[in-house]
Amino acid sequence: MTTISANLQAVLARIHAAARKSGRQPGDISLLAVSKTWPASAVREAVVAGQRAFGENYLQEAMEKVAELASMGLEWHFIGPLQSNKTRLVAETFDWVHSVDRLKIAERLAEQRPDSLPPLQVCVQVNVSGEETKSGVALADVPALTRQIALLPRLQLRGLMAIPAPTEDAGLQRQAFRRLREVFAGLKEEGLPIDTLSMGMTHDLEAAIAEGSTLVRVGTAIFGERSRA
Ligand SMILES: *Cc1c(COP(=O)(O)O)cnc(C)c1O
Repeated sequence: MTTISANLQAVLARIHAAARKSGRQPGDISLLAVSKTWPASAVREAVVAGQRAFGENYLQEAMEKVAELASMGLEWHFIGPLQSNKTRLVAETFDWVHSVDRLKIAERLAEQRPDSLPPLQVCVQVNVSGEETKSGVALADVPALTRQIALLPRLQLRGLMAIPAPTEDAGLQRQAFRRLREVFAGLKEEGLPIDTLSMGMTHDLEAAIAEGSTLVRVGTAIFGERSRA
């Protein structure tokens, strides 16, 4: 087994254990392998080990990998900060976007999503920790924004994403994820057909799964420590 393959098995085991511990089905939590900064060869190794969905933050880098691996039928998720002038490439290249945090961006993605492709799958990024510099819409503004995005053509609103302020305190990790889960539950209750809570990374996936995550985004535990962000 390669290191990446062994790491992937270990992450799947963590997901499995965390799900069982919360009385959830492991199959209800999907794994997004975050391949940012790693070459196409690393993605290939993960594919050989059975992984199909990959997350990228940097558009230029992602475009090269997507092109190189085009024949493999992979699912690509854009999870990085998204500026208006970059929306067209994202709309044309990716299957999912997790980092939509304002209406303007969603409108551009809707306009620019080619008719030849299935709807772009969208999560709204929420600033659950209230940090000034973090991207993400404020918790209080989530209902209005999601209602508007749900009406746009060519997009399918799937749910919410968050990157809480990093902490090793499992209680604090859960608190942040719980805030996201509660807003998510409220939206579902009012009838929005959403199914995805994108939360949990290498250091906090257990807390995220305990709070209802349906998709964890894991980079370091699969590919190793990155030499840059
Ligand atoms: C880098 C990144 C991840 C993966 O983080 P790890 O700690 O390496 O698992 C997940 N989500 C987003 C949005 C990221 O930018």
